[in-house]
Amino acid sequence: MPNPQFTKPWHGVPRESIHWNPSVLEDVCIGCGTCVTGCSRLVYRFDFERKKPVVVDPLNCMVGCTTCANTCPAHALVFPPIALVLALEGLTDVRHSVEDDLQARHDILASTVKVPHPDRIISLIVKSIDKSVGDVLRVTLAPVTPGECFCEFAPGQYIELWQPESSHLSRSYSIANAPHGDGSVTLHIRKVEGGRFTQWAFDAMKVGDTCQARGPLVEFTMRSPADMPLLFVAGGTGLAPVLALLEQQANFAPQRDMVLIWGMRQVADFYALDALKALVARAPGLRIILAADKLQSPAEVSPAIQFLEGNVLGAMASDAALPGQRDVYAAGPPVMLRELAHALDALGVDKTHVHMDSFGV
Ligand code: SF4
Ligand code: SF4
Repeated sequence: MPNPQFTKPWHGVPRESIHWNPSVLEDVCIGCGTCVTGCSRLVYRFDFERKKPVVVDPLNCMVGCTTCANTCPAHALVFPPIALVLALEGLTDVRHSVEDDLQARHDILASTVKVPHPDRIISLIVKSIDKSVGDVLRVTLAPVTPGECFCEFAPGQYIELWQPESSHLSRSYSIANAPHGDGSVTLHIRKVEGGRFTQWAFDAMKVGDTCQARGPLVEFTMRSPADMPLLFVAGGTGLAPVLALLEQQANFAPQRDMVLIWGMRQVADFYALDALKALVARAPGLRIILAADKLQSPAEVSPAIQFLEGNVLGAMASDAALPGQRDVYAAGPPVMLRELAHALDALGVDKTHVHMDSFGV
């Protein structure tokens, strides 16, 4: 019998609509019964005559759990790709449901074990908000207290930003600049339809607001030797950490052979073109390809900035110099990163030369 305790909606998504349960490879199964006795949700029963497990109540299976497959000595249990669950977790309503659940059960779930916090939390004040491209805000923040800043951050890192007067509503954004000495950071905030945080950012955030921030986090930082040519690939607001890395190179190695491919759906979506123009002016070794699915007569930005119709993979394939003997740095939607990883693998690019921003965007 499906157990209502286990088949209730998963973070607001009806359990029946989520196809997550084990399947038994009968030819491989040795009938040990570990899966049957080990699953506390009674997904399985045992066929004592055939000595095989039977998936009787698939909806009892916990979404995302693979414990039985991990403990099967014959590797006889398979699950749908975990990408299915990760895609659900990317839904705004699912994220809100998890946030609400945490708050509703705060007293039960709050940790009583105090772990020293390795990251710094500081106050930042909103200095400027650029709303010039509809779906992306470019927000610059500076330390409220001089000296209390992320002054030591490495280009490619991100910070977590709290909505003012909320103890829990926060989102993480890559820093889109190299350190400027004054602790200022610029973030690219993409509008998420129905998203709580971005609704505040787009509708209510104003210059002078003070926000708590934690960081700097993640290690999507420059790892390449100084003489290695570089290929940067960005999708959407994955441009932010890539811009930080490019600014770092413009500061320290402007002659370096570098190519940036940045993909967007349409030409009108490209933002921060002023920052790209400034970069190619400072770094003669840099050329930039802007790839858009729909290419409607783009205005020329700079001779070193070229528009192409198609996606970032198409742009890479159509350029004989790419990827070449380059280290690759990529940030953007997980789907783009996966496809890029496959394409580079097929081209024989060694994984040690590929650096992906696992934080995604
Ligand atoms: S994945 Fe977890 S919940 Fe699902 S059947 Fe296996 S042990 Fe049970
Ligand atoms: S744990 Fe694996 S081998 Fe053992 S009964 Fe289950 S599926 Fe078969």
